[in-house]
Amino acid sequence: MTTRTSPSRTSVIGAAVIGLAVLATAVALFWPREPTPRLAARHYADIPRIDVHVHVPPEQADRAIRMFREQGGVLIALNASGGHPDGGGLEENIEIMQRTHGALRPYCNLDFRNVEEPDWEAYVDRTLHACRDEGAVGLKIFKGLGLGIPLSDGSLLAVDDPRLDHAFDLAGELGLPILIHTGDPQAFFRPDGPDNERHAELAAHPSWSFYGPRPDGMGDWPSWQSVFDQYEHRVARHPHTTFVGAHFGNAPEEPDTVARMLEAYPNLVVETGARIPEIGRHDAHHMHDLFVRFADRILFGTDFQIGGDGRLVLGSAGREPDPPSRVPLFYEAHFRYFETADRHFAHPSPIQGDWTIDGIDLPREVLEKIYFRNAMRIFDLPDPRPAPASH
Ligand SMILES: [Zn+2]
Repeated sequence: MTTRTSPSRTSVIGAAVIGLAVLATAVALFWPREPTPRLAARHYADIPRIDVHVHVPPEQADRAIRMFREQGGVLIALNASGGHPDGGGLEENIEIMQRTHGALRPYCNLDFRNVEEPDWEAYVDRTLHACRDEGAVGLKIFKGLGLGIPLSDGSLLAVDDPRLDHAFDLAGELGLPILIHTGDPQAFFRPDGPDNERHAELAAHPSWSFYGPRPDGMGDWPSWQSVFDQYEHRVARHPHTTFVGAHFGNAPEEPDTVARMLEAYPNLVVETGARIPEIGRHDAHHMHDLFVRFADRILFGTDFQIGGDGRLVLGSAGREPDPPSRVPLFYEAHFRYFETADRHFAHPSPIQGDWTIDGIDLPREVLEKIYFRNAMRIFDLPDPRPAPASH
């Protein structure tokens, strides 16, 4: 009778449904996938963040933007790998900017290897005008300037080479801020070995060492101080050009040098990319006071990098990429540094060294400037905060 078989059929179907649900849950739990997004929740998770220093190839843009937003609270990120105009990648990155409503915005890049060509200045004019006209947020200059561009006489193109003056002046005239990375950690300019505090990083990346003879046989590497001096000459020479000193003004080991430069050059601001491990080692009260004193001049940056194949480099990595599960920890260590007075905790990029950092406990108004207000002003960006409901 159907009245007697119905209940049993219902229970069979019910059991099957429950079985499927259990199976689905098990698959969901154990299937390899990205970790559940988790916004690193500190006291000020409601403050939006603009990250002025990331590296994202076009094919990873959507995934990167999801990670920025969901795990870092980063609503706008500025892509230092924005490419060159005229088919060198910039147009593709501008399209991504438009498609993502400005969540990822490119800097453009300039090829300094052309400096000895007769049409160098024409190339600079063409490139920087195209950067501005196409909508790049600024110009990104890599550490290759000063350390990686050999000239025909064997010397390295210096950051303060006068042949580059026009490019730096023009960027200022066009309203393109310059994110400039000069030099590298001071330890990379000292002999590598077990005593070098960056030994783990140098062992994984021997080519990051700038100690001793250059591999091309054209003399020795310059000293850290000499490339830093070139950078200072450059900033001093162009008072109408805005410089964003990458990696904490390229001198995270010397916060007093950074403070001296911020004092001396009103056209200079700095960003924090990949240097929380370094600045977090200094006395927390001293750093707190420095951040408060220059609250209008320090911008939040991480140097979050994602490769075309999806490999992550969170500030720095060893031979292997960082796993996606480290992303929330990476952000959380940044926010803990800025927002708490916690002591002796793990910094964001373990490969950079075996030490802990101390938080600097910044007040809310300073955090708002560092997290987004300064970047809005310097890069002329829209307010990243969601608009309040209209009714
Ligand atoms: Zn970078």
